[in-house]
Amino acid sequence: MESSSGQPDHGDQWRADGITPQFVRPTLPPMLNIRQAAMILGVHPDTIRRWEMQGKLPAQRTGPRRVRRYALKDVQRLRQALGERVQAAQRAVVEVARAITGSLDLHHVAETVVQAAVNIVGGDRCAIYLVNQERGMFEPLYGLDVKQPESTQLFYANPVPITAMPLGLVALQQGGPVVIDDTETHPLSNPEVFRIFDTRTFIAIGLRSSEATAFGVMTFGWTSQPYNVRDDDVFLAESLAALAAVALSNARLFAEREQERTRATLVSTIVQDVNSGRNLRDTLTRAIASLVDQLDADEGAIWLVNDDRSAVIGAVETRTHGPTRIGAPLRLAAAPNIARVAQQQQPALIPLQAALGDERRWFESLDVQASLFVPLIAQEQFVGMAFANYLHHTPHLTLDDMHFTNTLARQCALAIERVRLLEAASIRAAELEAVIGQMSEGLIMVDRLGHIILVNDYAAALYGMPQAARDPAAFNPAQCAYYPDGRPMPADELPVYRAAVYGETATDVECMIVRGDGSRVMVSGNASPIVGSDGERLGAVVVLHDITTRRQIETEKDHFLSIVSHELKTPLTTIKGLNELARRRLLRDQQIAPVVSNLERMAHQIQRMESLIGDLLDARRMETGMLPLQLQPVDLRGLVNEACQRAQATTERHVIQFDSADGAFFVQGDAGRLEQVLDNLLSNAIKYSPNTSAIRLTLLHENQQAVLRVSDQGIGIPKSGRDRLFERFYRGANVVGSGYSGMGIGLALSRSIAERHGGKLELEATSPEGSTFKLTLPLAPQAEHAA
Ligand code: ADP
Repeated sequence: MESSSGQPDHGDQWRADGITPQFVRPTLPPMLNIRQAAMILGVHPDTIRRWEMQGKLPAQRTGPRRVRRYALKDVQRLRQALGERVQAAQRAVVEVARAITGSLDLHHVAETVVQAAVNIVGGDRCAIYLVNQERGMFEPLYGLDVKQPESTQLFYANPVPITAMPLGLVALQQGGPVVIDDTETHPLSNPEVFRIFDTRTFIAIGLRSSEATAFGVMTFGWTSQPYNVRDDDVFLAESLAALAAVALSNARLFAEREQERTRATLVSTIVQDVNSGRNLRDTLTRAIASLVDQLDADEGAIWLVNDDRSAVIGAVETRTHGPTRIGAPLRLAAAPNIARVAQQQQPALIPLQAALGDERRWFESLDVQASLFVPLIAQEQFVGMAFANYLHHTPHLTLDDMHFTNTLARQCALAIERVRLLEAASIRAAELEAVIGQMSEGLIMVDRLGHIILVNDYAAALYGMPQAARDPAAFNPAQCAYYPDGRPMPADELPVYRAAVYGETATDVECMIVRGDGSRVMVSGNASPIVGSDGERLGAVVVLHDITTRRQIETEKDHFLSIVSHELKTPLTTIKGLNELARRRLLRDQQIAPVVSNLERMAHQIQRMESLIGDLLDARRMETGMLPLQLQPVDLRGLVNEACQRAQATTERHVIQFDSADGAFFVQGDAGRLEQVLDNLLSNAIKYSPNTSAIRLTLLHENQQAVLRVSDQGIGIPKSGRDRLFERFYRGANVVGSGYSGMGIGLALSRSIAERHGGKLELEATSPEGSTFKLTLPLAPQAEHAA
């Protein structure tokens, strides 16, 4: 700063250098009489009255020279006094000009000018407003109430509708100053309004940029008493306003560009966030942080309206200090300002003094001086509120601040809306996923290129690839797809692929899946293309049913019918032949002996048929659980012995040998059914040992159970069918079509009987050199005592 010049001290710090002539009024208006001149020069009315009484201000009739002499003398004296004041004031103006030259901070310019203005011009209030054409508002840039600094915040915190300040508008339009010396009497005045603000004298001056566009007003006010506005007051006020206008329009231009740039970047970052982010919290936190930062607030929060729309509840916050300051939920019914902001869908700065009800308590509990309430509106709906809190003062917000705030609020509302939509969509997706997951049908979805995008659990299980449900991309159904006859199915023949790529629909296409472990599943699939709302093909879906069991049952039935018809037909043919033979012999030879032998052989075949039918009936009973047992203590060893003798009687080629451990082998059982099991095992051993060989039976105690092993030296059982031996109607691949008769019922029935006795029947060992079946039965309690 420059040091003080050598000028005499006028009781202030202002310096006289650098006076710019443009601020000096050339002369007073020429046509005045002394009384008028005195008035204009601001001579106090009491002084003028005194002059009148002293005859210094003679009536019109008084001689002109006399008048002029007195007048000239007084005017000269007054002008001198005034000159000093004007000079001092001009120096002050220059000082202000210096202070604000080069300042590009709007607020700083306004504050400097306004504070200087109340010193230079006097007055109780001074303010600078900028015009917001769009909103039809005067937006306060800075205002000061000298007598009541605390009310400054109240008066200059919020924009004023242009219609509520008509004199401001006049000043704006006419360019020159509007001076209302007494608001009670002036014809342009609206006394009721001025009374509210306790304003008796008011000056408004339009602010114009270098392009002569009016962008604001500077106002001066005197409270309580009317003030006798002097010409030089107006002149000084105009000088200050002109000064402010130049500085402000520069600062505005700069600030606009500067702020626009940074804010545009911020907004675009947040817009990107909103459009890409799934995280509501992050987006809102970023938005509120930008808001707080850009508006120079101390802290901020975003509150969302609750579900029944009765209150807003803090969602995210950003703060400068202290523990969480989000505060208690605000009931809208008890928060009139918030409710109004929500309803009008316009932000508003609410100072502590204006806060009401719950808001007031909220302000006080958080020690907030002022808060900018920004409504978040999505699709015309009030979805929440952003708060920017000021802890120490009430800020001055500009048009740009409001623009920025609004843009940010819109983005926040969008983010909220978007996340809610996403949530709703993901709930629906989860529901769908649950349904698809629980389906007892396989579902595979592919995109329009045939790439797998979804495999449900059931489908993954069908293919024996449980991980496919989690990682569809690694799933290749073509790898394990075959035609039902076993030929591999090429990938581009898969119905789902054809549906996706060619739009073909396929129903009940049968296909065989061969899993990694070699097991086979028969599936029937329905594939159809997925078509978007605009007719575009998006992909395809195939639904797979497991028809393995159905196919198996069908095969079983065919199998069963062919076996049964064959097995029954063979003895019938024999019976028919024997019958014919017996008839002929009786007719022709009258021989009795060969006929009796034929009848015996017929009886044997009939018995065989009987036992076949009995087996069929038993199989049916076994299936329906109606195989009744008559339990009683049975000597197993005796039973085995008899069975061996019976079996030995049927064959001469086989030697049946039975070894038994000592001790008792009593079991609680149905002797007839147990005989059936033994006969079955023995007849299989004989049947499936076509060459002469030994059949060995051993009976032992093992783990307090009776264990009988039946070993033969027969054909053995091939690996592929071993696990199905005990299924009804199953016959080994090595015996089917090789002349071994049978219906595949024996082992199934025998196992079922063993299990009904609390025991087991298993194939213990098998090889091309023979097989061993193991029958385990629990010993009866008496047997233990007997032993
Ligand atoms: P069936 O003997 O009437 O075919 P089973 O239920 O008794 O029916 O036997 C089922 C299958 O088990 C037979 O078809 C045969 O393939 C096999 N099997 C049973 N016992 C033996 C055995 N001792 N040696 C070889 N294969 C056997």
